[in-house]
Amino acid sequence: MKKDTLHKDTLVVHEGYDDSLHHGSLAVPLYQTSTYAFENALQGEKRFSGEEAGNIYSRLGSPTVQVLEKRMAALENGAGALAFGSGMAAVSSILVHLTKAGDHIICSRGIYGCTFGLLGIMKEKYNITHSLISMTTEEEIEKEITPETVCIYVETPINPTMELVDLQKVVNVANRHGLKVVVDNTFTSPYLQNPIDIGADFVLHSATKYINGHGDVIAGLLVGKDADEIEKIRMTVQKDYGAIMSPFDAWLLIRGLKTLPVRMDRHTVNAEKLLVYLKGQQFVEDIYYPFDAGNPQFEIAKRQMKAGGGLISFTVKGGKKGAQLFMDSLSLIKIAVSLGDAETLIQHPATMTHSGVPEADRLQMGITDSLLRLSVGLEHAEDLIADLTSAFTVLEQNSSTLA
Ligand SMILES: *Cc1c(COP(=O)(O)O)cnc(C)c1O
Repeated sequence: MKKDTLHKDTLVVHEGYDDSLHHGSLAVPLYQTSTYAFENALQGEKRFSGEEAGNIYSRLGSPTVQVLEKRMAALENGAGALAFGSGMAAVSSILVHLTKAGDHIICSRGIYGCTFGLLGIMKEKYNITHSLISMTTEEEIEKEITPETVCIYVETPINPTMELVDLQKVVNVANRHGLKVVVDNTFTSPYLQNPIDIGADFVLHSATKYINGHGDVIAGLLVGKDADEIEKIRMTVQKDYGAIMSPFDAWLLIRGLKTLPVRMDRHTVNAEKLLVYLKGQQFVEDIYYPFDAGNPQFEIAKRQMKAGGGLISFTVKGGKKGAQLFMDSLSLIKIAVSLGDAETLIQHPATMTHSGVPEADRLQMGITDSLLRLSVGLEHAEDLIADLTSAFTVLEQNSSTLA
């Protein structure tokens, strides 16, 4: 069967693995080894020179990790992929690969907190500067370009306000100016959005989230549209900085990834049900979800995303006090950061994920004290709604004490 005729649902189960090469083992074997024995000295020489393909040492490659990399490359319609020890290792590796001292990066105005921290390190140590912009028009992006600009780094949807960046516009500008485009695709997973199809050069994931889906691994993945460039990163930045993924984590991710389409469909259906429910609540003020007909960016969402996914943010009445009382009144829904797990998680960005952002910047990003982010899990929607209802009842009972 021709590979490009296979659907994602099939690729997550089969891509990149041939059981006949592994004693017929149906499950991908876990190669828990640090090194590989050569048959003789000449073979060792040939492996090192690249004359002969094969395993050498697990920081340079592992058969277990390679299955995950091949699967991810296929899912993102890329030509190659690299697995890392965390999402941040993927972010830092691609940015180190693309920049040199004195360069400039254009970023979407909302980026993951530690990515922001990394940009600070790069600025302090290597004078690599960055601009954080809203990217609503091509002109706005173009205005930021300097002779030192090398890449555009984008997250969409942006955490936690679910604001979207129009990827086509970013790619149009990048193509006109010879810039590389990197997209952090963690929030949608490769099942709902494929930036390489639109023209991005690199897509990365915190595989900790939807790709694993079970909340038991920290990991990252980088996919590129140029296989040679990915191999170059493998044998330079990844090999020498050493931010690799362990075979065991790859094994868990291969297991988790098999159900990605099934999980994303359920996450989305549950989120859509909660969206309808939340809209009917008198203690909810604003709701942010990409696939909401009332969202001014709904057209962008439909162009670049297959569905809305599992993340909803909303504000409750009563400011910080109301938001914290609401969270404390939940029982099934866990108070935790991270996302994409089977368990529904709620967090308060102002005091948790974005507590390090200065208040003025935070408010400008739309992260008010009453904003909550829900990572909708795989439970039955009725049970989630019952839990939310009991928390709204507590808000109502305490409404006189909430500002
Ligand atoms: C979690 C996350 C990261 C960082 O990934 P880790 O696996 O925690 O290192 C990067 N980007 C986004 C959008 C994330 O949600």
